[in-house]
Amino acid sequence: MIQIKDLHKSYHMGSNSLHVLKGINFNVKEGELVSIMGSSGSGKSTLLNILGMLDEADKGSYILDGVPIKNLNEKVSAQYRNKFLGFIFQSFNLINYKSALDNVAMPLYYQGLKRKERVDKAMHYLEKVGLAEWSHHLPSELSGGQKQRVAIARALASNPKVLLADEPTGALDSVTSHEVMELIQGINDEGKTILVVTHEDDIAHMTKRIVNLKDGVIIDDSPVKQIRAKAHV
Ligand code: ADP
Ligand code: MG
Repeated sequence: MIQIKDLHKSYHMGSNSLHVLKGINFNVKEGELVSIMGSSGSGKSTLLNILGMLDEADKGSYILDGVPIKNLNEKVSAQYRNKFLGFIFQSFNLINYKSALDNVAMPLYYQGLKRKERVDKAMHYLEKVGLAEWSHHLPSELSGGQKQRVAIARALASNPKVLLADEPTGALDSVTSHEVMELIQGINDEGKTILVVTHEDDIAHMTKRIVNLKDGVIIDDSPVKQIRAKAHV
C-alpha cells in the first residue's frame, strides 16, 4: 500500500537549514495498523505530512497504492488525497459553525455526491462511531472524545485506502484515549490500513507494529503483540 525509499526532508529558514528526515525506508501493507513513535521534534509529523501528500520530500520515492507520488500538480494531488487518504488530527480540525453531520458530509461534497447521498452517508458513519443522536450538535456542544469520533467519521466517509492519524489521542484523557483507540482498532479489524503517530508508548502498543523514529532516522521497526483498548472499565 505504501512504499517509501530513502526519504529526506529539510526545512530552510534564512541561512539555516534543519535536516529533519534523513533517509527513511519503510513499507506498509494493506490492512496494517502501524504506529510511528518518537519524541517531540523527531520528525513524525513531517513524515506523516509527506505520506498524506500535504508536503513533499526533497529526495527519495513514495509509492501509494501503486501510484508514484511525485511532481503532481495541486489539482491532481488534491484528487489523490481525496481518493486515497483520510486524516485525523490531535486538535480534531472540525468546522465550528457546522453540525457534526455537516462536518462529516463536507468532504463528500468534493467527491461530487448529491445532498441526499451526502447526508445518508454522513449519518451512516456517525452511527458507526456511536454518535447518531449527536448529528445536529455543534462541535462546541461535544466532548473531546466525541469531537474526535466525528473527525474519525469524517475521515472514513470518503472510504480512503489509508487513514493517517497524527497524535489522535494527544488532546484526550486516558479513558477517552482508550475509547478512540478502541474505535481505531475496530476500523482496522475491518481491514483498513491505518498509521498512527504518537509519542505515547501505551498508545503505540495498541497498534500491531511500532516504527521508532529518532532524530530523523528509523532506529527500530518491529511487530508488537497488540493490546486491545478498553473503553469501558
Ligand atoms: P514531531 O511531529 O515528531 O514532533 P515534527 O515533524 O513536527 O516533529 O518536527 C521535526 C523538526 O522540524 C522540529 O525540530 C520542528 O521544529 C521542525 N519543523 C517542523 N515543521 C517545520 C517548518 N514548517 N519549518 C521549520 N521547521 C519545522
Ligand atoms: Mg508532531
